[in-house]
Amino acid sequence: MQTRFSTAQLANPDVAASEQILRKCVHCGFCTATCPTYVLLGDELDSPRGRIYLIKEMLENDRPATADVVKHVDRCLSCLACMTTCPSGVHYQHLIDHARVHVERTYRRPLHERVLRALLAHTLPFPGRFRAAVALAALARPFAAVLPRQVRAMLELTAHRARGGAASATDAHVFPAQGSRRARVALLAGCVQNVLDPEINAATIRLLNRAGADVVSVPGCCGAIVHHLGREHDSHSLAAPLIERLHGELERGLDAIVVNASGCGTQAKDYGYMFRNDAALAAKAAAVSAKTRDVTEALAELGLPPVSRRGGPAVAYHSACSMQHGQKLDAVPRRLLRDAGFEVREIAEGHLCCGSAGTYNVLQPEIAARLRERKLASIARTGAGVVATGNIGCISQLSVGANVPIVHTAQLLDWATGGPPPSGLKRASDTASQ
Ligand code: SF4
Ligand code: SF4
Repeated sequence: MQTRFSTAQLANPDVAASEQILRKCVHCGFCTATCPTYVLLGDELDSPRGRIYLIKEMLENDRPATADVVKHVDRCLSCLACMTTCPSGVHYQHLIDHARVHVERTYRRPLHERVLRALLAHTLPFPGRFRAAVALAALARPFAAVLPRQVRAMLELTAHRARGGAASATDAHVFPAQGSRRARVALLAGCVQNVLDPEINAATIRLLNRAGADVVSVPGCCGAIVHHLGREHDSHSLAAPLIERLHGELERGLDAIVVNASGCGTQAKDYGYMFRNDAALAAKAAAVSAKTRDVTEALAELGLPPVSRRGGPAVAYHSACSMQHGQKLDAVPRRLLRDAGFEVREIAEGHLCCGSAGTYNVLQPEIAARLRERKLASIARTGAGVVATGNIGCISQLSVGANVPIVHTAQLLDWATGGPPPSGLKRASDTASQ
C-alpha cells in the first residue's frame, strides 16, 4: 500500500513503525473472512482491511480521531485472527495498538465511557481493589436489572468465577521443585486471574514443581488490560516495575518466565517492542520477552510429569486468540492434554474469538454476547464434558451460559499428574451424581 507520510511525521518512531506496517498491506482482503466482527456485522469498516484504511487516513492526515473511526477501532477485539490469515505479514497488532493510543490522546469520549474506562483501568490491574470490587458487585447483583448494560456485563462475568477474597497460594515467594531440581522458573502471579480463580496459579505451581522446577512467584500486572484501552502511560507504568523484577530474577538465573494467562503472555512477549524506544529499559524488556513462555510451552520443554491418573471426561480444547494468534501456540496444549490421557475434541470455527478480549466483553457487551453464544453452540456440538483453555478471560466469558465446566489446561494436567480435580469439574460431577 502506498503511503503519504511527510519526513517530519516519520521522525516520530511510532508513526515510522506504523508506516512500515501499512506498506505491507496489499488490500487482498483475505483477512476479512476470519475477522469475527466482519463475520458478524458484514461491514467492511469492521474488517481488518477497513480498519487499516481508517487508521491510515487518520495517521497520514495527522487528524484527531473522529467518532466514526473510534466506533470501528473500538469494535476490534485485538484477537489477531487477521495476522494469522494475512499472507503479507501485516503486523496488525502494533498498528491497532498505535491507533488506540492515538484515539486516547485525541478523542474525548462521552462522560459515561470515560468513567467506565477509568474504573476498569484503576481497578482490574490491582488485586486488592479488584477483590473489593468483586465483593461490591455481589451486593449490587440484586439490582442488576436497572443498571447500565456494561455494568450488568461486569456483574455477570464476576458472578461465575469469583472465589472470594482469600489470599492465594502464590502470596509466598519460592515453591521448591519435587525430587531433583532441573530448572528454576519465574511465574507471573498476575492480577485478575489470581482474584477470580487462584486455583489456576496453585495448579500451575504444583505442576511445575512436579516437573522438577523451582518456581519463583513474581507479583505484578503485565499492563495488558490498560494497554488494550490505549492508555500507554498506564501500561508502561505497570509493566516497567514488573520488567525490573523479572529481570532481577533473570540475573539470579532463570530457565523461563512462565505465564499462565495467554493474554498476559502475548503482552510480555511483546515487551521488547513496547519499550524499544526506552533507553533505560529496552535491553531488559527484550531479555524478559525472550525468556517468556506460556505454561504449556514450559512444560513441553521440561517434560510432563508422570501421569498417575487416566480417564476423565472428553475435553473440548478452546484455543484462546492470544494463544493461537498472539503466540502461535496451537498444537502444544492439545498434545500435552493427550499425553495426559485426555480425549481432546476440536471445536468448530476454532479461529473465532469467544468475545472475551480483555475488557471487550464489558465495553462491547452485545458483540461479545453474540460471539459467546456462537462459541458455546460449537462447544455443545462436541459433546465434551469439560472445556480446557489457557486464558482466564475466556474462562470467565464462556462460564456465563456454559453447560459444562470451563477450566484451565494446567488444572487438567495437574489433576492427571497427581493434583486435585479442578473444583469446577468436581462441582459438576457432584451435581450430576445427586
Ligand atoms: S484483531 Fe480480530 S477483530 Fe480486530 S480486525 Fe483483526 S480479526 Fe478483526
Ligand atoms: S490479508 Fe493482509 S495484506 Fe490482505 S488486506 Fe488483510 S492485512 Fe492487507
